[in-house]
Amino acid sequence: MIKGEKRNKSVVVVGAGLGGLSAAISLRAEGFDVRIVEKNTQIGGKLNFLEREGFGFDLGPSIFTLPQIFRDLFDRAGKEMDDYVELQSVVPHWRNFFEDGLTLDLHEEPDLMKAELGKLDGDIEKHWKQLQDFLQYARKQYEIVDEGYFDKGLDNLWEFIRYYGFKRLGNEIDYKNTMAESISERFDSEPMRRIFEYFIKYVGSSAHAAPGYMNLMPIIQFDYGLWYVKGGMYNLARGLGKLCDDLGIAVELNAPVASINPASGKQVSGITLENGETIAADYVVCNMEVIPAYERLLDTPKRFVKKLSKRFIPACSGIVVHLGTDRVYPQLAHHNFFYSKDQSKHFNTVFNEGKLPDDPTIYLVAPTRSDPSKAPEGCDNIKILPHIPPINPDKPVSHEDYMALKDRVIDKLERMGLTDLRKHTIVEDTLTPVDIEEMYNSNGGSIYGVVTDWKKNFGFKAPKQSSRFKNLFFTGGSVNPGGGMPMAVLCGQKVSDRLVAAETKRRG
Ligand SMILES: Cc1cc2nc3c(=O)[nH]c(=O)nc-3n(C[C@H](O)[C@H](O)[C@H](O)COP(=O)(O)OP(=O)(O)OC[C@H]3O[C@@H](n4cnc5c(N)ncnc54)[C@H](O)[C@@H]3O)c2cc1C
Repeated sequence: MIKGEKRNKSVVVVGAGLGGLSAAISLRAEGFDVRIVEKNTQIGGKLNFLEREGFGFDLGPSIFTLPQIFRDLFDRAGKEMDDYVELQSVVPHWRNFFEDGLTLDLHEEPDLMKAELGKLDGDIEKHWKQLQDFLQYARKQYEIVDEGYFDKGLDNLWEFIRYYGFKRLGNEIDYKNTMAESISERFDSEPMRRIFEYFIKYVGSSAHAAPGYMNLMPIIQFDYGLWYVKGGMYNLARGLGKLCDDLGIAVELNAPVASINPASGKQVSGITLENGETIAADYVVCNMEVIPAYERLLDTPKRFVKKLSKRFIPACSGIVVHLGTDRVYPQLAHHNFFYSKDQSKHFNTVFNEGKLPDDPTIYLVAPTRSDPSKAPEGCDNIKILPHIPPINPDKPVSHEDYMALKDRVIDKLERMGLTDLRKHTIVEDTLTPVDIEEMYNSNGGSIYGVVTDWKKNFGFKAPKQSSRFKNLFFTGGSVNPGGGMPMAVLCGQKVSDRLVAAETKRRG
């Protein structure tokens, strides 16, 4: 029971993605009665899986960073994370393949990392010094962004300026350069530039549009590791589901929400499910993305949605190809990148022109390197994910266009060493942006929520509290601090903090 109240305040959470689960758990820990309603037949949202003919495919995330954010969630609930999920380190972090035959690994261990730099043209000591200097700069960016934007849950440019002050903003935060410009200034080596630019993949944006401080991403990997969940990524959703059970959070599956119901005085009164059932609540927390939710669940004036849509443009989507092969490709690590010959063109085509790329940088995951149970003996389990534009009704892309891109991607992988990949494929599942949009109600099939782009939104996502309804909050990838597993989980915790502050203020 919340202190000083006759009854617990109630919260209904729309959607059981990571942001929804995290908000629900954090709010339950604060004494609220929490009920989650989820349209799909399972919890987890994009953290999803498919079992087929002995292959275990993680349909969404395959690795994650910042495990401390997940631990904090269990701490809030007074539980030990290790009693619910077991984490496993990914070794090496990344394997990077270039068209000229160069293969270079990223390692957490300094001696292994330094040895890899010997594969680059030029002086190894110079490459090592440039890497160390870059990581030190990245560490400073992480520390300052973590202190305010992450830890205080800052939600817009004004809160940012108020917290940091103009002096710190000017002297300490790298926002005047793009991520790519700050990388170029610090590395002479083209392959190193390409690799560090592609860390932007963690938020599905362009290194040529994201502000320099997004170079914090490599350091969270080098300093806090890269992680997989033992037994498959979906075991994290199972662990969070068990935590919900243990805390007494009601979870209703197969329960699509048709509307969030407005009440008088800038308030909402609860939600109505598609089956007609109405659930009253003191607060609504919405894990459906902000723009689709305003469009479809709330009777919002078109002008308001249009204004939001100009700033909170969806991050990239993807074609997600899962292959089960009847042979193993031993050259692959768990986590691999096959680089475009012209990565600037790749970013420009996807993020400025909004077209399918001819020669994308490809992200490829082979999870049996960490977890042999994910494919039958002698077989390989391969996830291929080129980033592509989200669905844009003004620039329609046909299913045939998506399949032609898939063919170009497989051709590229075969050319770069995955010999006869087509011929050896015995199981296949492919998702296009249309499937992703339908499965999770994401905006245009976005994978990571809202794009990180200085010119469009100063790097901010939508705020946690609705500007139209005081007791409506949003959580997940379209909300600050944004997409990717750790950020969605952090978002849920910070939404809880904001909601508790609003409730405390309401009670005077
Ligand atoms: C292919 C792919 C690969 C990825 N790889 C990585 C990775 O390696 N590492 C990483 O950190 N991140 C990765 N991500 C991103 C990560 O999965 C997401 O950022 C994160 O899981 C999103 O969480 P969320 O809270 O935004 O909710 P979502 O996962 O979007 O969940 C929203 C939930 O709301 C439900 N919902 C929507 N509308 C309604 C409604 N009207 N009624 C009821 N329920 C509704 C949906 O069904 C869904 O369950 C990847 C994503 C994809 C798709």
